[in-house]
Amino acid sequence: MPRVAPFHSTRPGETVHHDNSACTEGNNIEKYYLKPGTGGRPLCGHCARLDAQGK
Ligand SMILES: [Zn+2]
Repeated sequence: MPRVAPFHSTRPGETVHHDNSACTEGNNIEKYYLKPGTGGRPLCGHCARLDAQGK
């Protein structure tokens, strides 16, 4: 179950955080923009789906 500590992108326009290493959107975040924590943002829908499926 690749659930990980919350992380988010600081890129302008990003509105969610991620917490699943299988999330393609989360995986596409460039290192330059990658920051730990939720950033006060809601969870990414893709991550929520993966988490709910236990993936
Ligand atoms: Zn995500």
